[in-house]
Amino acid sequence: MDELKRTDPEIFEIIRNEERYQRDSVRLIPSENYASAAVLEATGSILTNKYSEGYSGRRYYEGQRYIDQLENLVIDRAKALFNVDHANVQPYSGSPANLAVYFGLLKPGDTIMGLALPMGGHLTHGWNVSITGRFWRAAQYSVDRETHRIDYDAVLALARKEKPRIIVCGATAYPRIIDFKAFGEIAKQTGALMLADIAHIAGLVVGGVHPSPAPYADVITTTTHKTLRGPRGAMIMCRAEHADAIDKAVFPGLQGGPHNHTTAAIGVALKEAATPEFKDYAAQIVRNAKALAEELLARGFSLVSGGTDNHLILVDLTNKKVIGKKGAVALERAGIVCNYNTVPYDPRKPFSPSGLRLGTPAVTSRGMRESEMKQIGKWMDEAIAHAGDDAVLARIAGEVAEMCRKFPAPALPR
Ligand SMILES: *Cc1c(COP(=O)(O)O)cnc(C)c1O
Repeated sequence: MDELKRTDPEIFEIIRNEERYQRDSVRLIPSENYASAAVLEATGSILTNKYSEGYSGRRYYEGQRYIDQLENLVIDRAKALFNVDHANVQPYSGSPANLAVYFGLLKPGDTIMGLALPMGGHLTHGWNVSITGRFWRAAQYSVDRETHRIDYDAVLALARKEKPRIIVCGATAYPRIIDFKAFGEIAKQTGALMLADIAHIAGLVVGGVHPSPAPYADVITTTTHKTLRGPRGAMIMCRAEHADAIDKAVFPGLQGGPHNHTTAAIGVALKEAATPEFKDYAAQIVRNAKALAEELLARGFSLVSGGTDNHLILVDLTNKKVIGKKGAVALERAGIVCNYNTVPYDPRKPFSPSGLRLGTPAVTSRGMRESEMKQIGKWMDEAIAHAGDDAVLARIAGEVAEMCRKFPAPALPR
């Protein structure tokens, strides 16, 4: 980054510092990852200079010979990898992708039925502070109070009562397999459309360690920067019958020119995700999450649903007598970065909930395995037990950085 250093030393320094931070900490935020150097090169390319409103062969600007090639190639890769009829690779991110789906397929006032935010759903699944819960009528399902899992009979009963136009499945804090087949049947029985939002688990789906929604869902949305390990962006995939409505909703309905540099980087990520190495990566993410969960359980931590099937763990800190925020701050001081989160039926308020949300996609990208997860669990236990003790937290941070040095992160300096 020699040019950046010369032109803008202030921004350069901030990026360098963040780079060191990402290098020297154990990053357990389940929606984060390390993109490859190839993905970053495409993201930082001259494609950012280009305007190309519209779609291949029907653009509103001249000079699209290479951009059309690019977008067609990336669409073909998405269709092949996810086994879908149609893909739109233009959404700027996951939230606008979901908004485009509702805008394209629903009328104002129709009902969106999604998993409630405090139960693990995403804002854009109809939560009331989101535009999706204001412009449309929302009905929200929960997880079971005892098992913390989705109760498919309860979802069916709610769908019969609320008559949603669309049922959204997928989550931002749900540690278990989602039964897409069951959601497909519920949607069919109640005459609703089914949207599977696989933002968190897309990498697990293409890696074969989570069932795919493709046979059941009318529409699939995903971000490209979480387990899929691409640039920040999103895709909408759907059955052929919805293709026109979806494309029109993205452009001109919601967006202007696509971010072609991002499109290129999504293409790179999709190529990487189609390799045998990526399958191994996805499987290791899940093994690592299970290993970390086991270590935490052995140390007396209480886990939502009792464990994990995927990349994500929700810890309920109530029995440790530490609130989520204080726990997350202490862990960060110890070099372990995660986020505080509500747990199902949390008696505390959303801005100071009882839980922590952890995930293994980023540490797995560094090549860490089960034995490192055990070590991380041990450090977490120590940090939570000494949440107010700066000396202990600083000592752990030193040990964390030392371990991190043995596992160089993709695209970061050693
Ligand atoms: C992250 C996420 C989104 C939103 O993605 P952004 O890129 O942050 O807008 C949507 N749905 C789910 C389930 C997510 O986890």
